[in-house]
Amino acid sequence: MIGFIGLGIMGSRMAANLLSAGNKLVIYNRTKEKAQDLLNNGAVWGESPAETARQSTVLFTMLTNPKAVETVALGEEGFLQHLPKDSIWVDCSTVNPGFSRQMADEARRFDIRFLDAPVAGSLKPAENGELVFHVGGDAGVLEEVRTYLNVMGKAIHHQGEHGSGTSMKLVVNLTLAQSMAVFAEALNFGESLGLEKETILNTLIGGPTTGAFIGGKKNKLLTNQYDTEFPLEHIQKDLNLIAGEAYQNGSSLPIANVTKEMYSLANQYGLGKEDFSAIYEFLRTPHK
Ligand code: NAP
Repeated sequence: MIGFIGLGIMGSRMAANLLSAGNKLVIYNRTKEKAQDLLNNGAVWGESPAETARQSTVLFTMLTNPKAVETVALGEEGFLQHLPKDSIWVDCSTVNPGFSRQMADEARRFDIRFLDAPVAGSLKPAENGELVFHVGGDAGVLEEVRTYLNVMGKAIHHQGEHGSGTSMKLVVNLTLAQSMAVFAEALNFGESLGLEKETILNTLIGGPTTGAFIGGKKNKLLTNQYDTEFPLEHIQKDLNLIAGEAYQNGSSLPIANVTKEMYSLANQYGLGKEDFSAIYEFLRTPHK
């Protein structure tokens, strides 16, 4: 049986795809209500992370941050010590590479094989089984779970050793966070010059200076309604993970650190649960 823990925006949709591909699923989420659709469709409720683990030979986790993964995986009630020996734990959460390496070590202590396998792609790609996996860990272990990843994703990139999947994910999100903030700033600037918002959007989107993903944000920016695909508080979390890793490695990220604090202020402003494109809402406020 496949275990799945963490049924938020992404996990619920990834688990749904595993289920509709005919897999038997045992699931757990801290807030049980979010599991109801999956339970109605034949998934089994795990009662606790430990109980879920006991029934799993492959266990996926899709949790907010390192603290959440640590809470659910380690300790008396954590799942790690309850997984059958030689089973596989695939952590799809966006965490930092140092943490992924630490989890690989923890897993090894219990004879569990570990992969860090964070994903690029948001709500819609998760729903459509079109995520991109960046995987760190043993290539043979990846082969054992490849069929499951193929159900949830359209591409699988084996980046190397433990932590390298997470490393690539942080590189991707560094560009994602900054592209969105830069675009929001340019949009706001254009409006302050008296240009029509829709005209600016139509000019920039699809052009050579704009990230392709921003096309998917057009309607949110146009209507100032930021239905959540990727919560702003999560991109702020990722920028903090990025800044922490850069400090450890002696790398400098001057632009990222300014961007990080912009998202931090936007979060304090009350936009943390909105889609991260709401950074535009934060920037445009003085022009209201
Ligand atoms: P989400 O909707 O906020 O879901 C987070 C999940 O973590 C929920 O199941 C939540 O449980 C659980 N959780 C958080 N803290 C916990 C704790 N202390 N103990 C137990 N469970 C805990 O987030 P998401 O958007 O699905 O993102 C999940 C991960 O994927 C994050 O690392 C995010 O950065 C990454 N990611 C997200 C996107 C995206 O576009 N949304 C894209 C790529 C990667 P409850 O339901 O009980 O709160």
